[in-house]
This record gives sequence, C-alpha cells and structure tokens, in this order.
Amino acid sequence: MPTALVIAAHPDDGEFGCGGYAAMLADAGWAVHWVVTTNGAKGTEDRAMPRERLIAMRREEQFEACRRLGAASLRMLGYEDGELNYSRELVGALVRAIRETRPGLVLTHDPTDFIIRDSFINHVDHRVTGAAALDAVYPAARDHLNFPEQVAEGLEPWKVGELLLWNSNTPNFEVDISAVVERKVRALEAHASQFGPGADLAAFARERWRSEDGRYVERFRRVVLAF
Ligand SMILES: [Zn+2]
Repeated sequence: MPTALVIAAHPDDGEFGCGGYAAMLADAGWAVHWVVTTNGAKGTEDRAMPRERLIAMRREEQFEACRRLGAASLRMLGYEDGELNYSRELVGALVRAIRETRPGLVLTHDPTDFIIRDSFINHVDHRVTGAAALDAVYPAARDHLNFPEQVAEGLEPWKVGELLLWNSNTPNFEVDISAVVERKVRALEAHASQFGPGADLAAFARERWRSEDGRYVERFRRVVLAF
C-alpha cells in the first residue's frame, strides 16, 4: 500500500498545510499516518482555561480531524508547545515513526525562518519540527548506525523517496484540492478550541486556498530524493 507520513508541529498545522492532499491520498487508497510533535498547550486566549483541559481538548480535536481526513494513524509526541528544542530524542521519535510506517512520501513544515514571502516569522516549533523531520528522513532513518537501538529492536532502516514542504517561499508543486476542500474545512472545524462557533472557515478557505482561476490549491516545495 502506498504510504505517506504527515509531520506537523501543532494540532491543526497539518490540516492547514496539507489537509486537502492528505484526504485525496487517503481516498486513493494510501495509508496516511500523522505525527504531531507538540501538545498545543499555548493555543488559547482564555486565561481561565486549565492547561490540562486544553491539552486534552486539542488531542481529541486532532484525532477527530485525522478521522475526517481518513488518516491511518496519529501519534502525538506531547512536547511542550512553543518550547520545542531540536534534540536527539525528537529526531529519534521521528525516525521511529518513519521506520515503523515506511512512507514513500513525507509531508511537513518548510523549516525556513520567514514565511509568506518574508512577511512573518515561521514559528519556532514549525522550524524545529521541519528541520528534525528532514534530518530524520536523511540521514537518520536510512542509516543503520543512526539510532541503532531501534534497529536492534527490529526496526529496519527506511528510505523516504519524496518530500512535500508546506508554507514554502519557493513552492514548485501545486495540488488541485477543489474536490476535497469541504473535507479540509471540516477537518479544520474539528479544532473547535481554535476556531470559535462564529469562525467562518469556509470563507477563510476561499480566501486562502482559492487560486485566481477559481480552483482550490495547496502549494508545496517538492523534493524528490535522487538517492
Ligand atoms: Zn503551528
């Protein structure tokens, strides 16, 4: 079965970045696995919101969003939102996800410092997650001398063939998601803690993902690994 792995920093990032394409792949028979690196604990403006309740809500919301997109699995690594550090442990967790799910395609954050044509800072958790994901793909997951303790457990090295990076300043690959844009909106709506009842995500989607010719598109920087 063709397999993809989505690696996102926060609950809802993957839906924004690649929710349409992830739904299309699942519909086409792919196993689409998801990893979310942080716990989403900074995602509220409500000062009375208990921290543990928010973490639990965001976890439930991410599982529901993944269900709506036909995901094959979701693992939440639970690192603290806003404080993600590049570490051996983080790369190792992503290597483990790659070696266990054996994806041909990995979709993740472009680890660039600035986004939206240099008009904003790329969140630190996005940068760290993207960088760790790339390093997990190459060299770590494919080399038996990286994380040898996993290989000793029976997790064989794995070569990913292709990367799709969202929020890139240099997209070179476009996917027409017109047929599934409603599913993308439904998946975003699963994140009720982030988008209150008044949020018009359908209008937002029209604004954000509709191209000049009326189609809905997701754009990526695509890297096909030559080796
Ligand atoms: Zn995010």
